[in-house]
Amino acid sequence: MYQNNSSDETVSTINDTIRSVAIVGSGVAGLTAGVLLKAQGHTVTLFEKSRGPGGRMSTKRVAGTSVDMGGQYFTTRNPDFLPFLRRHAGEQTVVPWHGLLGYQQDNGDWSEFPTEQRYVGAPRMTAITRGLSAGLNVQAQTRVARLHRDSQVKKWHLQDADGQNLGAFDQVIITAPPAQARELLADSSAAQLAIELNTAVAQILPCWAVAVKFSTNPWPRFQGARVANSPLFWVADNTSKPGRENASDEPAAGHWWVLHATPEWTNAHVDDDPQQVVDALIAAFAELSGNAEPALETLTHRWLYARSDAGGEPQPGHLWFASEQLGLAGDWLAGGRIEGAYNSAVGLVDAIGGSEQA
Ligand SMILES: Cc1cc2nc3c(=O)[nH]c(=O)nc-3n(C[C@H](O)[C@H](O)[C@H](O)COP(=O)(O)OP(=O)(O)OC[C@H]3O[C@@H](n4cnc5c(N)ncnc54)[C@H](O)[C@@H]3O)c2cc1C
Repeated sequence: MYQNNSSDETVSTINDTIRSVAIVGSGVAGLTAGVLLKAQGHTVTLFEKSRGPGGRMSTKRVAGTSVDMGGQYFTTRNPDFLPFLRRHAGEQTVVPWHGLLGYQQDNGDWSEFPTEQRYVGAPRMTAITRGLSAGLNVQAQTRVARLHRDSQVKKWHLQDADGQNLGAFDQVIITAPPAQARELLADSSAAQLAIELNTAVAQILPCWAVAVKFSTNPWPRFQGARVANSPLFWVADNTSKPGRENASDEPAAGHWWVLHATPEWTNAHVDDDPQQVVDALIAAFAELSGNAEPALETLTHRWLYARSDAGGEPQPGHLWFASEQLGLAGDWLAGGRIEGAYNSAVGLVDAIGGSEQA
């Protein structure tokens, strides 16, 4: 069984059977599961519909630096999480972010977030997922569209959107967000599992994200802030994160902020023209900062699935259907957030290791 201690990681297999495992998705959950299963000796293939790994921990490159459009930072309550990242993603890729974070109360007053160690990837959030994926077989730009289980030979067959065969596997792990996971299962021979998902599922809320470059820092008060009574939910001084500093003598230098809209505002403006979204969120930020400094450059990203919200309901951590040899992992099963995605994958790999082959 896989054991993971913060000081020393001991890896061995529960039995001698080498299994072929297909993992759908290469965000934190998929990559964690991939690293652990590969370390146990299994043959692992990850399928990722986007151009590269990372999922919602996403970064966009811009001249002279990069901007984190998705997951902003993380905390580590599980003592195994940080050592795992440092060991498998690289010692230098996970660094503390010492920014001062604040939150606004309904009456408009500001308070500071409690002191806590917060971490980011350096020089960008995706440095972590790139590091985790380095030793893995990730088939990018491959959307798994259909799963079919041949119960005679106990193999899963995967197909892409063009009906191309992606191979036969002993086990499948799905780490797509819940709506996409349910869709995939509903189109598969595992349709009944899609129904079981309904009881375990957190909602994933949408988010319009805008990154803005200013010539100087328009709001030095905080480096990250949760906003109240505004179209804005969260704003962060991206340039304050380690490794994002532009060399100040470069012509491309500037100060990047990331602005995330609330789920309510995003829902109300989900089909708006991106330029209208940029204008509205920059106006809201100018009101917040009291500084209407002009934007030099902007980027947008519309997340239809951003942050997980279980509405306070208990969550299962992961789902493992031993009779089908199919599992699900992801932040939405384990409290949301980056650490939740890791915890979910670790729990699933443990559950798989402890279950009999069907
Ligand atoms: C705007 C925003 C801000 C956030 N801020 C924070 C924060 O500050 N701190 C924090 O801890 N968390 C934050 N989060 C949440 C955090 O990013 C997620 O919890 C975490 O990245 C989820 O990882 P995951 O592996 O579970 O899912 P994902 O990262 O969503 O990975 C799933 C992967 O599956 C792929 N996929 C889906 N369907 C298929 C298919 N059919 N075939 C192939 N591939 C498929 C997707 O492309 C994706 O890469 C934020 C997220 C967003 C979007």
